[in-house]
Amino acid sequence: MIREVTMYRAECDGCKCYIDFPTPFPAWARNIAISNCGWKEINGKLYCLICQKHNKEKDEYKPKNKD
Ligand SMILES: [Zn+2]
Repeated sequence: MIREVTMYRAECDGCKCYIDFPTPFPAWARNIAISNCGWKEINGKLYCLICQKHNKEKDEYKPKNKD
């Protein structure tokens, strides 16, 4: 079967790497990136594993290159 599909892309606001999700729901792409791929949403932006930094004292995540 050939079928047209809608996809959403989770794109890192730091390094611009991305993961494509074959889902018609943008919220799914966001949730899977965060819960399955370890991405973090920080101040409304998405950061991949490489671009996030955990602050142990405050127990919060920050973008890596802004410190
Ligand atoms: Zn990144």
